[in-house]
Amino acid sequence: MAIQIPRGTQDILPGEVEKWQLIEETAKEICRKYQYQEIRTPIFEQTELFLRGVGDTTDIVQKEMYTFEDRGGRSLTLRPEGTAAVVRSFAENKMYGGANQPVKLYYLGPMFRYERPQAGRYRQFVQFGIEALGSMDPAIDAEVISLAMELYKALGLKKLRLVINSLGDSESRTAHRNALINHFQPRIDEFCGDCQNRLEKNPLRILDCKKDHNHELMKTAPSILEYLNEDSRLYFEKVKQYLSAMEIDYVVDSTLVRGLDYYNHTAFEIMSEAEGFGAITTLCGGGRYNGLVREMGGPDTPGIGFALSVERLISAMDAEGVDLQSEKKIDCFIVALGEEARDHSVILLQNLRHAGFSAERDYLERKIKAQFKAAERLGANFAIIIGEDELKSGVAAVKNLETGEQKELTLNNFVKEFSMLSQ
Ligand code: ATP
Ligand code: MG
Repeated sequence: MAIQIPRGTQDILPGEVEKWQLIEETAKEICRKYQYQEIRTPIFEQTELFLRGVGDTTDIVQKEMYTFEDRGGRSLTLRPEGTAAVVRSFAENKMYGGANQPVKLYYLGPMFRYERPQAGRYRQFVQFGIEALGSMDPAIDAEVISLAMELYKALGLKKLRLVINSLGDSESRTAHRNALINHFQPRIDEFCGDCQNRLEKNPLRILDCKKDHNHELMKTAPSILEYLNEDSRLYFEKVKQYLSAMEIDYVVDSTLVRGLDYYNHTAFEIMSEAEGFGAITTLCGGGRYNGLVREMGGPDTPGIGFALSVERLISAMDAEGVDLQSEKKIDCFIVALGEEARDHSVILLQNLRHAGFSAERDYLERKIKAQFKAAERLGANFAIIIGEDELKSGVAAVKNLETGEQKELTLNNFVKEFSMLSQ
């Protein structure tokens, strides 16, 4: 039996890959405008990094990691997300000591989670994410959110919903945490095993439970917004004020909590409201994580970022019927007839490519008609025809495949004359 692709992964073939390239280029261009620089970290890290950085009560750590032992007996894990490694690198490379603060970084690459594959959920998927480290200015929270929104808009998405919340500082969180424990404790036996564990470790995560989200206690759970102290409340007000000033629409949802343990203050998600997008509507998740750098062994440094996957972005584009794929065309196709002409086309092709043209030729010794067909399939603007006669008289016929107009150019000066002709 033929070997098949692993479950939850996909091949991205020519025809589809152009969409990916467009998304990647757009993301990079927006990062350039916003002054976020690329960081590349390893695909695998020490398992310990994610236990500490993502949090051992999260679904990611408990159920989804690809963890293996290498030949030296070390426990390694394929990265399930990007933030932990970026923060590790920030601390390890002492980026907090550099002149340019805050440090603004982006990453783009594959992540791995052992999940049940379904639409919008893969075992290998590509995340684009940014992290801004070293600033506690609410304007940077607003900037991070606006960068994500700008990417989606640049790619033609219109049916977006931005949801924000504040998880407050640690004082607010502790007060809220106690209120949650008091709320759920009396009836915790009606909840799933995961939630029972979460009650002591991280009761906030009960609100994020996918099994028990319809339980009546969920609806009456104490809202974090009522437990924000004055500083946290003012911080959140500023973020909202800046978003409004930038004309970015949002709704506040006090039940929005992010799956990861290290979040505080601003949390946000961007959803698709496109019909037919499917059950999983979250495109992007992010927020502030002021405790994480310290957790990774660096100095106390505030941070905020988001992560989104290209897979879900593409699903949203498909659901909204966005088609940004530009027409594919090449500059010219060499139609060569006979061995001598085929020999000559080797040099001609290289000269054309060196001059910057996208150029192709026939490699299957096809007949003239089939060569023209191949040129058409590639969307060539010009066909360059060389045969015995042309070689003898030192010219090549150049046919504009759109107008049908034909001209003769001298082979000795071909690239120059072709440049003028094709302008
Ligand atoms: P979900 O609730 O959908 O499982 P999550 O909380 O696990 O999301 P994050 O860890 O915040 O997601 O990842 C950020 C973004 O990465 C998500 O908003 C989503 O767009 C994308 N993402 C997460 N897991 C997958 C996956 N298995 N396949 C494709 N995209 C994913
Ligand atoms: Mg998940």
